[in-house]
Amino acid sequence: MKIWLDGGLQDIESARVSVFDHGLTVGDGVFETLKAVHGHAFALTRHLDRLTRSARGLGLPDPDQDEVRRACAAVLEANPVPLGRLRITYTGGHGPLGSDRGEHGPTLVVAVGETTRRPDSTAVITVPWTRNERGALTGLKTTSYAENVVALARARERGASEALFANTVGQLCEGTGSNVFVVLDGEIHTPPLASGCLAGITRELAIEWTGATETDLPLDVLERADEVFLTSTLRDVQAVHRVDGRELPGAPGPATAKAMRIFEERSGNDLDP
Ligand code: PLP
Repeated sequence: MKIWLDGGLQDIESARVSVFDHGLTVGDGVFETLKAVHGHAFALTRHLDRLTRSARGLGLPDPDQDEVRRACAAVLEANPVPLGRLRITYTGGHGPLGSDRGEHGPTLVVAVGETTRRPDSTAVITVPWTRNERGALTGLKTTSYAENVVALARARERGASEALFANTVGQLCEGTGSNVFVVLDGEIHTPPLASGCLAGITRELAIEWTGATETDLPLDVLERADEVFLTSTLRDVQAVHRVDGRELPGAPGPATAKAMRIFEERSGNDLDP
């Protein structure tokens, strides 16, 4: 496998990043996960814009978007996969042991792995830990992901594929790697960005394409919602058939099934919507 590092393609076996890279030592980095369909990165422009926003949020220099585009194309050409998960990682780079950044400048790594289509529906749990809707990192897609790793492990222990967080004031926020939507009386709602959730690209497209409304929702909306679904780059639109102990028989329900259909059609017709 070939990855992009230091301005060019390298063999994964010999590619090296400093053990003092701040992405490793202090989680000082940002990233993007994109879906690669037959050699094309889906929604690349939106992902590059978010990468730049996240980098600015951390005070990193803007990533060179032309280089990132070239890197994605080169990695996809060198590693052909029918359905891929393209990962862009951009860190503070090699630096001193501590939180101050070094002088070496950022590290950019682009890699791709094969992935498979997710099932049409899944089980989720809620977790007792909260998302901070007003933190320094809120809304940034940083490599400081350990909280998500812990919550996802809890979900797996309970036979679920995703864990949902409330924020510090008890509102529904998002999953470890997905945004959440609920259907109430036929209307689709999703938490606003002010809830502390990530501005998911799939969330954005689902709002644009289905007319879903951004609404403050208490966590216990999950106990009464007619339908629940998740969105993310790797899930697309995915129905939820169980939340904690509550079964949602017949998932995907009508509104979710429609959102799934619309998403599949539109995303199939336009690779960079
Ligand atoms: N929320 C979090 C915390 C995520 O990590 C992700 C994606 O990885 C999402 C939401 C969904 O975002 P996207 O649709 O851009 O994949």
